[in-house]
Amino acid sequence: MKSIRDLSLKGKKVLVRVDFNVPLKDGVITDDTRIRESLPTIEHCLKEGAAIILCAHLGRPKGAVNPKYSLKPVVQRLSELLKKTVGFSSDCVGPEAKKMASSLKAWEILLLENLRFHAEEENNSESFAKELASLADIFVQDAFGAVHRAHASTAAVAQLLPSAAGFLLEKEISTLTRVLKSPAHPFVVILGGAKVSDKIEVIETLSKVADTVIIGGAMAYTFLKSQGKTIGNSLVEDDKLDLARELLATRKNLMLPVDHRVAQKFEAGSPAHATKDSNIDAGWIGVDVGPETSTKITSAVSGAKTILWNGPLGVFEIPEFAKGTNACARAVAQATAKGAFSVVGGGDSVAAVVKGGFAKSISHISTGGGASLEFLEGKTLPGVAALQGAVHV
Ligand code: AMP
Repeated sequence: MKSIRDLSLKGKKVLVRVDFNVPLKDGVITDDTRIRESLPTIEHCLKEGAAIILCAHLGRPKGAVNPKYSLKPVVQRLSELLKKTVGFSSDCVGPEAKKMASSLKAWEILLLENLRFHAEEENNSESFAKELASLADIFVQDAFGAVHRAHASTAAVAQLLPSAAGFLLEKEISTLTRVLKSPAHPFVVILGGAKVSDKIEVIETLSKVADTVIIGGAMAYTFLKSQGKTIGNSLVEDDKLDLARELLATRKNLMLPVDHRVAQKFEAGSPAHATKDSNIDAGWIGVDVGPETSTKITSAVSGAKTILWNGPLGVFEIPEFAKGTNACARAVAQATAKGAFSVVGGGDSVAAVVKGGFAKSISHISTGGGASLEFLEGKTLPGVAALQGAVHV
């Protein structure tokens, strides 16, 4: 993969695919991490004297214009962070984008409206990619969070312009490669979240390289049920029971919760208590790992040299059910302070780390949950493959 470092950018128009898929509440950005993470590449382009055309997606507008998913709120935040004016085109292709891009001068920045307002983006349409490519001389891919998709702005466009990876993409790939290929041991993986089906492949791959794979969140109940434990009304994927049983039989390094916090409803204030063991009584729902499990997780994590965490250990959106996730965040931060290399990925676990004030204590916070999981499953990411086979300068 060619790097942005290898490109001569002076006087060139550079189309940069960034990840500005930020969370918004009533049109206000609630977490600007992804914008900040794109700054090194943008600042490098500025330093080199390029004219910068930024393109990105926000949410899932499904190929139609929808003001709720407009990238407009990003303009002001980006402009504040760069201390520079940022132009905005209300369409990413068509006459307005063409006009604004063609009059763009060196050291100027233009942001294009949401790529996904056009269905052609997600269809990886070549003609749409041609329109995007016609705006610039060079393409830089820096949207790690989108490279697991073969879309026009991640795949097709890289075949049309001299293309390279930006700094964020490079950093994500080199960090995850380090974790996958040469982790310092003990290597402890923590996987939580809602669905086994989302994480099954990553459990299969990582249980081959890690010393311990801790399974928490709703996923754990499918594994426990497959062992014949009672799980009450907890979330379960019955069609994955055989797979869970097989994994437990073949992988001896999987660690399941030994107790739980259970509640009657997924609601704040619902009656709740910790169980005595890994069984859950009828009528109760597992909403978090229990105190004994938390102690076991903290102990496993505190002895680790490499830690990878993806997915919350409970329904952490409700503070009473966030204890296990918060304790895990603290343990990962403390182990990192003692010299471990830690990687946290996936929107919810990142949110938990940020909320707990531990973000600065983590070695690497991945900006792409889905992309990092697919990379860790050993899959080829289409946006990376496109750069590898791209037009080089
Ligand atoms: P994922 O996107 O797969 O990482 O899942 C994140 C979601 O899993 C969060 O919204 C959590 O609330 C949810 N989750 C974690 N633990 C549980 C649980 N025990 N029961 C139901 N949902 C859970």
